[in-house]
Order: sequence, then C-alpha cells, then structure tokens
Amino acid sequence: MPVVNAYAAPSATGDLVPTKIKRRDVGPRDVLIEIRYAGICHSDIHTVRGHWGPQQYPLAPGHEIAGIVTQVGAEVTRHSVGDRVGVGCMVNSCRECVNCLKGEEQYCLAGNTGTYGAVDRDGTITQGGYSTHVVVSEDFVVRIPDALGLDVAAPLLCAGITTYSPLRHWGAGPGKKVAVVGLGGLGHMAVKIAHAMGAEVTVLSQSLKKQEDGLRLGADHYFASGDPSTFETLAGSFDLIINTVSASIDISAYLQLLSLDGALVNVGAPAETLPVNAFALITGRRSFAGSMIGGIRETQEMLDFCAEHGLGSEIEVIPASAINEAYERVLASDVRFRFVIDVATL
Ligand code: NAP
Ligand code: ZN
Ligand code: ZN
Repeated sequence: MPVVNAYAAPSATGDLVPTKIKRRDVGPRDVLIEIRYAGICHSDIHTVRGHWGPQQYPLAPGHEIAGIVTQVGAEVTRHSVGDRVGVGCMVNSCRECVNCLKGEEQYCLAGNTGTYGAVDRDGTITQGGYSTHVVVSEDFVVRIPDALGLDVAAPLLCAGITTYSPLRHWGAGPGKKVAVVGLGGLGHMAVKIAHAMGAEVTVLSQSLKKQEDGLRLGADHYFASGDPSTFETLAGSFDLIINTVSASIDISAYLQLLSLDGALVNVGAPAETLPVNAFALITGRRSFAGSMIGGIRETQEMLDFCAEHGLGSEIEVIPASAINEAYERVLASDVRFRFVIDVATL
C-alpha cells in the first residue's frame, strides 16, 4: 500500500499540516493518478471544520482534482497512461440502484462514496486531492479536454458541475433570465456557464465590490443584495435563481424575485436550516429546489462544454503552505474566484 504526501486537517480546529496518507494498491479496474492541481472548495472547509457533522482525522480534503494517469489496472479500458484526467466529489457508488442506472450516481440510494471522509469499500476512510497521488475506479475518472489547462480545469470538477447540472436541468438558455446569488467559486462558474448557454445573467452579490469582474465573466446585470432597493427593482424578474451562498440567507426574499413558475435552486450547503415563507412560494407557483453536483456522464459533458466555450475557472494558484491562509480568505469571501493548490509544492 503506497504512502504519499498530503496536507490534512488533524482535527476540526487545527490548521492543515503536511501528513503521510496511504493509497490502496491499483486494482484491476483502478487508475493511479499523479495529481497536479487541487481546487479549494468551500465544502472542504465545511467538512474539515465539522460543520456537516463529525469526521475522522487526519483528513485530507480536496475534490477538485486534475492530474495525469500514471498506471492502469489490467482490466481498465476507459483511460491510458498519460491521459489528462479529473476526479470530482465522488469515487464510487452502488452502480445498480435506479439513480445509478440513470447516470445520477451522486443520488445513489446506497449513498455515493465521497472523495474524502467517506467509508470506502475496504472499510478505510477516503482521502482527497490535497495529495500527490490518488487511486480511483476508472468509472469515476473523467477526461480533461486538451483545450483546458489542468489548473483552470480542476475547479470544474466540483464548482463547474454543481452549477452546470441545475442550469441544464432547469433549462437555462436563450430567452431565460437567470440570477446567480453569491459570486464565489460556484457562483463565478454559474455566471460563465449560464452566459455560454445563452441566458440573460444577473449577479446578486453582497456588495458592488466584484461588479467589474462579474460583468467581465459574462453577467448582463449586477446588483448588490445588501441594498434593499435591489429587491424592489428585481421583484418578479427571474425564471431561475441559483443560490450558491455558503451561509443561511433570507430565501423568502429571493423567492419574490422569481416570475410565475420560476425556481430557486439551492446549491449552497450551509449547516443551518433555510426557512421559507409559504406565501413567497404560493403567490407565484414558485419552486424551491436543491441540486447536488452531477453524475459522471454529465461531468464529462460539462468538461466538453467548457472546453468548447473556452471556460476555465478564474484561479489563484497557491503553494500547499498557503492553504490555511486561503481558507481564511474563502471564509471572508475574499477569493477571485478559486484557490488552486499546486500539488508539486506538497
Ligand atoms: P465560496 O467560494 O466561499 O462562495 C460563496 C459566496 O457566497 C461568497 O463568495 C459570497 O459571495 C457569498 N456569501 C458568503 N457568505 C455570505 C453571507 N453570509 N451572506 C451572503 N452571501 C454570502 O464557496 P463555494 O466553494 O462557491 O461554495 C458555496 C457553497 O456551495 C458552500 O456551502 C459549499 O459547501 C456548497 N457546495 C455545494 C455543492 C452541491 O453539490 N450542492 C457542491 C459544492 C459546493 P459574494 O461576496 O458575491 O456575496
Ligand atoms: Zn466542492
Ligand atoms: Zn446506486
């Protein structure tokens, strides 16, 4: 069982530190990936800090993984040594339930196996992408098109697919008015992707600080949610709102911004509950929905779409030694728009 370098949290409160972790031997249907870049998702912070429940430590997070295949098992058919590949938020699922058979493995009825902090088939706890190598079942590894650099592609494995999937599912496209709440890692990809799909895109950010960036990324309009007049100006405007905020916000106020039959889709995952006023729903036949990442087939489709439209993530590449500082900046909404760890520095 190979031992590799990683950065891991020793506890829910301690800083991440250099740690050795074990990877399983490459099985017949596994690939070994030499990781080049790993994005920092807000979910990494929620998880290691115990916001979503207790964890086993040390825990190396990271589910926005981009790298190169360096070894394949004897029965592998989908990938070859030298391929540019990615791994997102899950590394396995039951493969036989109704949702897995639909290609929606993220909603596996037996629970998908998360890339980190989950119990793997062999009983060990999975460890994520803040590490030099990972061994993954070939079916949960996707191709990164040549048109995308591995650094700007890494965040697509979570931030990209988590926004692409609901935008597709709820029909973002020409003639549709889409609002994106929160211009962070997920939000900036939502803006880019919705714009590329042909929708009219509005950003709702806490302040006007990121306005120039938002418009450059493809937004047609930009408003500050901190200004109460925004909610009057935009009442009844949108077909679809994607909420990417990592904290609890006043959902009912945002529901009022939907037109008849509009949907507000929550992808943000705060630990706190999100209360909803029934009248905000019933007065416009509105929907309040949620969406979690995307299936493997759709993740490949998203990568191909992003390559075709030239959509990488806007990134700040950091050495591993800057991970803890990056966490503080993410928590302060001070990131434009994704930190990506240069794994060579591990
Ligand atoms: P992020 O980069 O920190 O972005 C979140 C954005 O939310 C911030 O940039 C900020 O945008 C806004 N925000 C933060 N605190 C706020 C507050 N108190 N009030 C109002 N707005 C606030 O985080 P991320 O990586 O994009 O992740 C966002 C959320 O999605 C997290 O909860 C994460 O766990 C979750 N997530 C869910 C899935 C899924 O499958 N559903 C997948 C990945 C991540 P502005 O500064 O522009 O206001
Ligand atoms: Zn994520
Ligand atoms: Zn399943």
